[in-house]
Amino acid sequence: AQARYVSIRETPAVTLEGQRINLVMNAGLMADLPSLESSGAEGVGLFRTELQFLVRNQMPKRSELVALYSRVLDAAKGKRVVFRTLDIGSDKVLPYMKPTDEPNPALGWRAIRVGLDKPGIMRMQLQALIRAANGRPLTIMFPFVAQAEEYRAARVEVDKTIERERILGHKLPESLEIGAMLETPSLAFAPQKFFDEVGFLSIGGNDLKQFFFAADRENERVRRRYDTLNCSFLTFIEKIVERCDESGTPLSFCGEDAGRPIEAVCLAAMGIRTLSMRPASIGPVKSLLLRTDLRKLREIIFAERYKGVQSVRPAITEWFRQQG
Ligand code: PEP
Ligand code: MG
Repeated sequence: AQARYVSIRETPAVTLEGQRINLVMNAGLMADLPSLESSGAEGVGLFRTELQFLVRNQMPKRSELVALYSRVLDAAKGKRVVFRTLDIGSDKVLPYMKPTDEPNPALGWRAIRVGLDKPGIMRMQLQALIRAANGRPLTIMFPFVAQAEEYRAARVEVDKTIERERILGHKLPESLEIGAMLETPSLAFAPQKFFDEVGFLSIGGNDLKQFFFAADRENERVRRRYDTLNCSFLTFIEKIVERCDESGTPLSFCGEDAGRPIEAVCLAAMGIRTLSMRPASIGPVKSLLLRTDLRKLREIIFAERYKGVQSVRPAITEWFRQQG
């Protein structure tokens, strides 16, 4: 199936009206690296660092983190790689960490909450990232930030680690970008000051959708109940885009929906300019973007919303069917 897309691998994703969309990939292990070349990804929009921690039965050593991160940066050959710090808890439980008994793990002690409460692992990770960068540009993203203070506290950890590494005589990154994942509705309503100070934002659609609709992404009974193309959800995405545009904050979307062609073009129509997805989705998403006029799509979405439909999917699917 991938053979179909080889011919557009080096083609930039430009829509019919001339809008350029950046297509980057999600990764997490050494095994994903060959896809950087083969998929035509313009970089790594989400490197899930927890996978290295999850596939083994003991905590990896700092030297092992440095080895993986530097090989990722080597493989990226200067393309941007967004390293997300450890996103554990909820559905991702480390086999060698004492399990926490929580009534609602998805709403519990997870991701940056663990990172800030028990900063040991996060500090080791930040050190490893700086050492792996070894003077190259470095991009770090914190998961599951629910309020500005969490981002600020994490930034303080980065600054302290940079200072420590400088004193130890390690090369510092040539440039440093620090951002946050927007996965809880609360962050979309953070003060304007937060949008001004955060380096970039990436919408974690899997979590954001679960909290927006209050529907557990792990629960088969409810997880497919609410459509990403639901007008309320698209309106919410539109608001996030507007807030980021006002402050000039770079925004991307890195949940699974970014890799589903119809969803991806609708996200682009709402103003998302960078989509991060599994490598195999880049071909199909690009192929549809190349055939789409986002302005037309946006008109249909707005018209449907005005009519008061629940989801724009029927109208969008029908429109694409007519286009052939
Ligand atoms: C998300 O929540 O959309 C996301 C990209 O992070 P994860 O799926 O790893 O929770
Ligand atoms: Mg998430």
